[in-house]
Amino acid sequence: MSIENRGTVKVENGRYRVKGNFHYIYPNDPIRNSKGELLGVTNPRDVTHIHTYGGEAPFFENLSKGKLLATKCTNSKCDAHNSIFIPYRIHCPDCLQRCKQVDITALAQRGASVHTFMITERTGAFNTLETPIRFVNVEFEGIATILMGYLSVGEPKIGMKVVPIFQTKNPTFTIMDLSWVPKGTSESDLPEGFSF
Ligand SMILES: [Zn+2]
Repeated sequence: MSIENRGTVKVENGRYRVKGNFHYIYPNDPIRNSKGELLGVTNPRDVTHIHTYGGEAPFFENLSKGKLLATKCTNSKCDAHNSIFIPYRIHCPDCLQRCKQVDITALAQRGASVHTFMITERTGAFNTLETPIRFVNVEFEGIATILMGYLSVGEPKIGMKVVPIFQTKNPTFTIMDLSWVPKGTSESDLPEGFSF
């Protein structure tokens, strides 16, 4: 079974145009017990998933350019007026009005802090982060929400000052392009492809 002609997506006139194959099936294997009795089969499959970012696309595009975007409710009649949200929310959860995009890169560089953290050796399928993964919940001054991320250098501590780093060289255009390091980390200690 070959995986030639793997599927790609292009956009023409505002519509997705898919080309190639998005599903591949491979020969299976029987599952047998110690007596040789058949219990089942494995079903190897290879699926190319199309993940549409919709209104959140600017967030991922800007990570690749070293910028951290949040959004803000600008409705003066809303209880959440001027609240800044990251993760990037397209709509305000209080008034449902479209939020305005705000660049919080400088604010995050001045010093975000670790609200709490979690270290895990066990990961989900297709994990590509180095284990143990040091997940950090990052708190920003003047921002209404907390952002989940991963620490790339050092050991996390509650209250520790951290700064964002961005995978601007060969970006993946996913949340993996954003990571965190303790404030004061030198550029030479950053993972390959990342910069401040
Ligand atoms: Zn609102």
